[in-house]
Amino acid sequence: MKLLPQTALIHARRRAPQLLNSIQPPIYRASTIIFNNTDALFNRHWTDEYDYSYGTHGTPTTYNLVDQIAQLEGGLYGLLAPSGLSAINLVNSCLLAKGDEVWVADNIYGPNMEHLQYLQKQYAIQVKVYDPTNADSFRPSAKTKLLWLEAAGSVSLEFPDLVNLVKKAKHAGVITALDNTWGAGLAFNAFDFSEQHLSVDITVHALTKYPSGGGDILMGSVVTRDKTLYHKLWQMHALQGVSVSGDDVAQVQRSLASIRLRYLQQSNSALTLLDWLKTQPQFTQVLHPADPQSNGYQHWQEVCESGLSAGLVSVIFKAEYDLKAIRKFCDQLQLFKLGFSWGGPVSLVMLYQLKHMRQLPNAHLQQGILVRFCIGLEQTEDLQADIQQALAIL
Ligand SMILES: *Cc1c(COP(=O)(O)O)cnc(C)c1O
Repeated sequence: MKLLPQTALIHARRRAPQLLNSIQPPIYRASTIIFNNTDALFNRHWTDEYDYSYGTHGTPTTYNLVDQIAQLEGGLYGLLAPSGLSAINLVNSCLLAKGDEVWVADNIYGPNMEHLQYLQKQYAIQVKVYDPTNADSFRPSAKTKLLWLEAAGSVSLEFPDLVNLVKKAKHAGVITALDNTWGAGLAFNAFDFSEQHLSVDITVHALTKYPSGGGDILMGSVVTRDKTLYHKLWQMHALQGVSVSGDDVAQVQRSLASIRLRYLQQSNSALTLLDWLKTQPQFTQVLHPADPQSNGYQHWQEVCESGLSAGLVSVIFKAEYDLKAIRKFCDQLQLFKLGFSWGGPVSLVMLYQLKHMRQLPNAHLQQGILVRFCIGLEQTEDLQADIQQALAIL
């Protein structure tokens, strides 16, 4: 058939051979995926391991990344979402129905709590709060469907009693979902931790943080080892049209090769700063899961690979420093930039007033404004000098 120029442009006859053995795999961008014939169209089934039928259901590019994330975390099957929060919401909307009960740690990632509170209002789902370092405070009932875990917890960084919480959930037939962003599949294996080979059912990971590593891409994942659970999540993923860009996936894929090196660097840098921060008179408390004085230290020791503890450290300023003083301190920092998130090259700082964020008494936390430092890839001496000069103006 002889084609007119515009048609010929779209139906190009020549294509370079596809199998090129490059270090990075090719990037597939697809909404439509062309079936070879009607047999292929009618005989496809979504439970096939790699279902290429429409862009939202996955491409070789998305499957490559999700397989690698699953492997990193010790899982078998996974799904990608456009942000960490979107991955969290996928789990909540897939597993919770009217009248169900869900338990969340008091130090849970804030937007997850907000999403659950919305579900509580809209769909009569009961949200119960437990103390992550005290497994007795988790009291599942016949209505309990889901237990959310986070190790270590957001902002105040207590490491939970994973062993006893997971044991208790298993005993009660409750599904466990762990926000694995802090550990990133590196500090501990969520699907095989402790000597008793315990496992959570689901991990959620904000790939925005360590896997991306650039502070520029938003993405999330959900991983499991349970095929039935995976199919359930897959169906909700498809129903909601949750999808990510092939170009973004390729960026995360490229960074993934260096994740362990970056994680170790930021983890070591945070540990060095921790020792110095503890000697500074302006703080009433320094919070870090690998610090022997921290609430949950023995749980961190029980589960985490020696020394591995991400790049986050929080301080609580003595009560004599009011909000105005702490704002001045944050504004005075030069290398630490004021912003949410972590895991990128640039160190970040954020201030929090815990009394507005927690529901339980939290007797282990001192009164005062909390400042969280997220360590980037700068040299530790420069970061210490930056904090020192900002403390000097107080
Ligand atoms: C950042 C973060 C998320 C959400 O990730 P986004 O990609 O920013 O939506 C979820 N959980 C934890 C612990 C996080 O730090």
